[in-house]
Amino acid sequence: MIITKAEVIVTSPDRNFVTLKLTTDDGLTGLGDATVNGRELAVVSYLRDHVVQLLIGRDASKIEDTWQFLYRSAYWRRGPITMAAIAAVDMALWDIKGKAAGMPVYQLLGGASRTGLMAYGHASGKELPEIFDSVRDHLEQGYRSIRVQTGVPGLKAIYGIASNDAAAALGTRYDHEPAVRGALPQEEDWDTRSYLRHIPTVFEAVRNEFGPELPLLHDGHHRMTPIQAAQLGKSLEPYDLFWLEDCTPAENQEALRLVRQHTTTPLAIGEIFNTIWDFKDIIREQLIDYVRGAVTHMGGITALKKTLDYAAMYQIKSGMHGPTDISPVGMAAAMHLGLAIHNFGIQEYMKHGAKTDAVFEQSFTWENGLLHPGDKPGLGVELNQDEAGKYPYEQAYLPYNRLADGTVHDW
Ligand SMILES: [Mg+2]
Repeated sequence: MIITKAEVIVTSPDRNFVTLKLTTDDGLTGLGDATVNGRELAVVSYLRDHVVQLLIGRDASKIEDTWQFLYRSAYWRRGPITMAAIAAVDMALWDIKGKAAGMPVYQLLGGASRTGLMAYGHASGKELPEIFDSVRDHLEQGYRSIRVQTGVPGLKAIYGIASNDAAAALGTRYDHEPAVRGALPQEEDWDTRSYLRHIPTVFEAVRNEFGPELPLLHDGHHRMTPIQAAQLGKSLEPYDLFWLEDCTPAENQEALRLVRQHTTTPLAIGEIFNTIWDFKDIIREQLIDYVRGAVTHMGGITALKKTLDYAAMYQIKSGMHGPTDISPVGMAAAMHLGLAIHNFGIQEYMKHGAKTDAVFEQSFTWENGLLHPGDKPGLGVELNQDEAGKYPYEQAYLPYNRLADGTVHDW
């Protein structure tokens, strides 16, 4: 179980993915996802220039020791690039350990705590008829929980809002727009007061159309002040949201105290957090209901499991980040972890495109609204390097937004 080879593979089938592949002297291989959307090559350099040489000759069975070595020896701890690199190594080592044991990773984590993982998809539209069509389409695809994002009157382009016009132009419809390929990020517009006025009317209409049972979620994309977020949570209470996500900028966790004092709408946050330290206070003070951390950006299965075990003490559940920029390897890691822990809440699940599915051969299943990682030894994902080689890196940026007076606004 000595690591003899460590390769960093960049491929861009439908979007950019960074994958670490470790090989041991007994011929086992393990994969890890190191994709940081829009800043991919920074992690490639971190791994290739600073980590790969540290791994050669190490015992692949030592997952905890390798994690602590990479985290503590660097001196410069935390941050998305460092933690994505450590996450990739961690995932690859769990993959190898599973293959060595002949067991899927969830068995090594304690075995299945449920038959499958409830997952939510992303419905969106500029106006109500498009939103209703998108919700119906997701129900037909088997989703039993749905995030709803809406256009706002007076605003031309908002992140995460698919439109049938754009879908016709692209030939495919994204309900959560990917980073757009090109040398510069696209500029969108934003007005929080218009958004706050409009959004309760959309949730009222969606509830009237689809009834009280369907779990509905909404993402505020970190755009509100604490008092605005409190106002939104309160105005959405009649529509019984499963959660309100990312209501305030994630750097200031204290903001959630004020939000919490004013609303009983459940709160989810943390997709851009990198360590348990980012979650420590808001878990202990019970300011959130769901931990949005991703295996890929929180330092891997080892670190996110510790965070979720801590959250379990406060009845806080998982809501792991799962947009398409989490590669199939990162998604598989999330599914194994979610299946094993007791305090699983819900899993975000956006389907990858056909090209991505050809590059990453996967074993997961999606039936009756439930995900399952499958029972292949390890994570259950193999990289087809011939397919991966067909799609070289392409520069891509997430969009950003400005207010009417030109001020750059929060993501
Ligand atoms: Mg979010």
